Amino acid sequence: MIQFNVYPDGKKRIVTFSYDDGHKNDQRLIELFDKYGVKGTFHLNSKSLITLSEEDQKAFGERYRNHEISCHTVSHGWPSKIPSASLVGEIIENRKALEKIAGYPVIGMSYPSGSFNDNAIEVHKACGIVYSRTTLSTGKFLLPDDFLRWHPTCHHKGALALCDSFMNNLDSEWTHPLFYIWGHSHEFRTEEDWREIETVLQKISGNDKIWYATNLDIYNYMTAQRQLQISVDERTFYNPTAIDVWVERDKKEILCIPKGQTVTL
Ligand SMILES: [Zn+2]
Repeated sequence: MIQFNVYPDGKKRIVTFSYDDGHKNDQRLIELFDKYGVKGTFHLNSKSLITLSEEDQKAFGERYRNHEISCHTVSHGWPSKIPSASLVGEIIENRKALEKIAGYPVIGMSYPSGSFNDNAIEVHKACGIVYSRTTLSTGKFLLPDDFLRWHPTCHHKGALALCDSFMNNLDSEWTHPLFYIWGHSHEFRTEEDWREIETVLQKISGNDKIWYATNLDIYNYMTAQRQLQISVDERTFYNPTAIDVWVERDKKEILCIPKGQTVTL
């Protein structure tokens, strides 16, 4: 039996961070992320960004270079409370502004104030958004069934309490392998707050059983994994994507199917 429970380099656990609103504290948080080798996704509004000079916009984008820039609407409108046409503008104009500083297609999102409904999700899809995070923390290490209803594990204030549970089970057969922490960097108001997030980072970083990924890395990898073409006897694989993909066979073998190749293993 083939299982899609393996991530890049044969790892079986994933850690990701997701921060909203684009506060100046992002700079310090990113320095911590870089120090500990983890990846973050930063969901940014663009209302004030577009008032900056070209040079300042460039410098702003540079801050996020090792991480992912993602949407959060132009002006933090609530997707479930505004007309569909306004929401289209909030997303498309946000994408345009962010793509200018990011230099790649910005196709991720977190719903401002966690606001979404079925109609808002359809509008997001039509605007090319492929995943969006909610604010509904599950307390669990779930991968999303639906990337446009991507519920995180916890807000960073609850992360320390869950670190040991995650790290003490790295070798178990969990089907829920993702520790997803979200928050706002403007919530780090005191040195005590910064010490707490650094303690979380110390506990969960630097482990070769964990893939440290942005939100979009996870979306792209899982989407590629689902595109694998597999023979009935589960020996021959074709990976039509541009991403190397790993799977587990019969709960004992970890197989790599290189991008663009057909292999018999
Ligand atoms: Zn927000």
